[in-house]
Amino acid sequence: MSEVYNPAQQKVIDMLGKAEVRPDIPPSLADEIRAEIEQALLPVAHLLPDIATYENRFYLSKQSLTNALSCEGFFLDGQGPFEWTNANCKGTIVHKAIEVSINLRHPMPPTDLIEESISRLSNDAGKSISEFLITLDEFARAELVGECSALFTRFTECFPPIKSSWIPQVESSLALNLSNNRIRIGGKVDLALGKPPDKVIIDLKTGRWSPAHYDDLRLYALIDFLAIGNAPRKVASYYLDTAEVHQEDISEAVLRSTARRLQDGLVRAVELKLGNAEPVLRPAGHCNWCAKNNDCSAGLEYLAKKHEEDGW
Ligand code: SF4
Repeated sequence: MSEVYNPAQQKVIDMLGKAEVRPDIPPSLADEIRAEIEQALLPVAHLLPDIATYENRFYLSKQSLTNALSCEGFFLDGQGPFEWTNANCKGTIVHKAIEVSINLRHPMPPTDLIEESISRLSNDAGKSISEFLITLDEFARAELVGECSALFTRFTECFPPIKSSWIPQVESSLALNLSNNRIRIGGKVDLALGKPPDKVIIDLKTGRWSPAHYDDLRLYALIDFLAIGNAPRKVASYYLDTAEVHQEDISEAVLRSTARRLQDGLVRAVELKLGNAEPVLRPAGHCNWCAKNNDCSAGLEYLAKKHEEDGW
């Protein structure tokens, strides 16, 4: 008997589920793209560390790539130290609950599952979130359990129940090594369903939509393509609070343009971090949370103009 989905779940199936037609991608494209990226890196190869040890290699995440292509001052030292907050830890907790729920033999009530996820993360000394969670007082912890349970419940209401036959992978790491392992581009896929070439890569979002979400997913599709030789069929951002799905087919054109973006950002990131290149400042929305926005004249000018436009 076929599964009966509610309208929200059916929408996800219709947008992301099996498709007979998919973009035609030449089998030689992965080798071609990899060779192009390696070629683009040659002019900065002398700046890279000699020894390809884990500690020494040049690492770039999807967020750093986006930063390098936005304001180079922000990329270098505008982000400040990372701090866990109630807002940014919700995603990690809900992802953990989703990950466990897929493999549970007997379903657990959402609140119990969230409680258990928080306990496991609190006790995991290897994760920085644990230091934040163990300092929460009873009230803050209860508040967090409530917010995360609501998000998790919404996911179970609006996303179709994930079957093991969909070959789900949760929080799976992917990486691309370049320049004889002296560069590593890495990341973690929230959820992948299906096997290549029918795979769909999904980012589960607790915040608002941003155009950068498309860039992040295209990068993951490219890394997966270069590793496997088959591109994922689709990528999608799934917004947990609104149950919206933003999806994109992965075509040859998308892979080629993503590779060019990676090439440009990576070369520039190496020049800036290892070659002491002069950063090009590009003031924009990120000036609001940039650690340098008190003494950067370009940023101060931009923010003053924005405040004037806002009328406050
Ligand atoms: S304040 Fe704005 S322009 Fe200046 S470094 Fe930060 S993000 Fe760039």
